[in-house]
Amino acid sequence: MGKSSVVECIKDYDLDKLAIGVLGSHSALQILHGARKEGFRTVLITIEDRVSFYREFKHLVSNFVVIKRWSDLCREDIVRKLKELSTILVPHGSYVEYVGLECAEGIDVPIFGLRPLFRVEASQRRKMSLLRKAGIKVPREYNYGEDIDGLVIVKLDGAKGGRGYFLARSKEEVVRGIKELISRGVIESYENALIQEYVVGVPAYYHYFYSPILGRVELLGADIRYETSVDGLKRVPPKLLEFMEVEPTFVVVGNLPLVLRESLLPKILDYGYRFVKATQENLPPGIIGPFCLESIIRDDLEVVVFEFSGRIVAGTNIYVNGSPYSYLYWDEPMSVGRRIAREIKLAVEKDMLNKVVT
Ligand code: AMP
Repeated sequence: MGKSSVVECIKDYDLDKLAIGVLGSHSALQILHGARKEGFRTVLITIEDRVSFYREFKHLVSNFVVIKRWSDLCREDIVRKLKELSTILVPHGSYVEYVGLECAEGIDVPIFGLRPLFRVEASQRRKMSLLRKAGIKVPREYNYGEDIDGLVIVKLDGAKGGRGYFLARSKEEVVRGIKELISRGVIESYENALIQEYVVGVPAYYHYFYSPILGRVELLGADIRYETSVDGLKRVPPKLLEFMEVEPTFVVVGNLPLVLRESLLPKILDYGYRFVKATQENLPPGIIGPFCLESIIRDDLEVVVFEFSGRIVAGTNIYVNGSPYSYLYWDEPMSVGRRIAREIKLAVEKDMLNKVVT
């Protein structure tokens, strides 16, 4: 959807009945809750077998739109319905994964966020290149077939929640592992795998929000992912580890809250501003709303960013009632879901809705 058709589309919208729409997954409950807190109508789009679950929260939902398959989101009648309801769609971490890239970026409904970023996010390489352009410290990257110096993690394209990733110590291990993934049909080619230096330290994920209306980056929270089996291996006494033939895996099962040393915050906020600037320069108009930088903090306190997400991340679900950081900005319980709705509300009040949708 081009900028002009988004502007045309919003012109037909009833701004007094604006609805915030979301797919039934990921952080939908938080987004719906936040939208209601800010006085918006809400639309929950979901497949049939999740309807009964979301009906338990029907006080958060003004309209249910039930589809057979997620990809039906882009069906003409569904799009028409969403527009009739004056819906602004809020993409979350499952959005592209569920409906597919073509539908996700092409849908003829205004999106709160930066639509062209979806395509960048689909490729690990393009993602890392954007982080480098931002001047953010990232792990070393290796080409397929290149000699490896130290330990590497091999990561796959698409939001797979860490599934299929593996660690390797040599060029041979990398090549063997990638060939196996190709033969199992997990990836199409070696180009879908990113070979990255494995950074030793502790993981930390930062939840940012860029407000085009207030012209500032807010640091709204931080979390740690709880990943199996890498986090479980900490429970095994080191002397027993050598008897176990287990390779760490990185499948996400949940998130834990984190507050950071305050002396780290200036750097982390600076990274947020750098990222926003890089998106503005490379993908105008630049990021809108929530994004996340994912890092390892080394023991020299260097913050190395190995990944980003251009949308609301599931770790924000910890803070449905606000986080220690969002409270400092807003002095009221402010989840990222609610912050999205607040931004849309501010945009409507200032007649700047076209600045927050693409
Ligand atoms: P990702 O899909 O990029 O978020 O990675 C999944 C998990 O793999 C992360 O949460 C980390 O635990 C781990 N990981 C990814 N990249 C690196 C890296 N370069 N160094 C160390 N751990 C990493």
